[in-house]
Amino acid sequence: MESSKFIWMDGEMVPWEEANVHVLTHALHYGSGVFEGIRAYRTTDGTAVFRLTDHIRRLHYSAKAYGIEIGWPVESLVAACKDVLLVNELDEGYIRPLSFLHLGAIGLNPASAKVKTIIAAWKWGAYLGEDGIRDGIRVRISSWRRIDQSSFIPTAKGTGQYLNSIMAKSEAVKTGYDEAVMLNSDGNVSEGSGENIFVVKDGKLLTPPVSSGILDGLTRQSVMTLLADAGVDVREATITRGHLYGADEMFLTGTAAEVTPIREVDDRPVGEGKPGPVTRQAQDLFGKIVHGELPEYREWLEKV
Ligand code: PMP
Repeated sequence: MESSKFIWMDGEMVPWEEANVHVLTHALHYGSGVFEGIRAYRTTDGTAVFRLTDHIRRLHYSAKAYGIEIGWPVESLVAACKDVLLVNELDEGYIRPLSFLHLGAIGLNPASAKVKTIIAAWKWGAYLGEDGIRDGIRVRISSWRRIDQSSFIPTAKGTGQYLNSIMAKSEAVKTGYDEAVMLNSDGNVSEGSGENIFVVKDGKLLTPPVSSGILDGLTRQSVMTLLADAGVDVREATITRGHLYGADEMFLTGTAAEVTPIREVDDRPVGEGKPGPVTRQAQDLFGKIVHGELPEYREWLEKV
């Protein structure tokens, strides 16, 4: 990863190399943290952050869901994200807020552990590669199932739950694929290791509902809105592995991945094995919106 100069740590800008924590940090042992991934873009009107307040609200939601008390209100963290971009002289990039249990407890009852919040930002290009954005990626169904709501909170971004995503992603890459698609405990399609999934079939755009164990991605919500506004029939639907093999088009969405086409699933070409028209439309509209080229979606951009 590309480093930058400063990391915000509980109100202070700390030089990148000095932004460290103790080895007995609770979150290092048990994954007791929550985080966000946010992108800032160069727009027609200067640098802006895509859905910044919504991301920080989700950070607060994740913290509440896992019982972690963030001492900073949403507005303070929104302002801090902008400050981090400014002090690092970043006119675009990826922003990573993280709140975690720090020192004061080491057992499983974290009641006395202090909460620490940090915000880092750095330059980060296409998560699944420029080739992936252009030509589409190859995915496989993971042998690992997506975390289940009977034991975790899939709609929250808790750090510990990402061991599940890491196993899926590593398996996919080690076996020669770009990304994993995870089924839920019922065997239905849930999402990618860090992205939501969309399928186009007979002109309809389908994506699994929250009850399929997904993280309700902000890119997912944005793409659903903008394609519905463009007249596409967009629906939430339970999707099976078999449906994927018959899809006309398929793509992933996420802050890091943006809109990435899928050209192959389990060694079977998706449609004609190249990005289709609905996928291209989603990429095109999303790209225009984040760069401020479509005034009707300007409220999603928060100027720095
Ligand atoms: N699913 C998972 C598991 C994720 O980690 C992410 C990335 N935050 C997404 C989906 C996509 O969410 P968003 O569009 O809000 O980045």
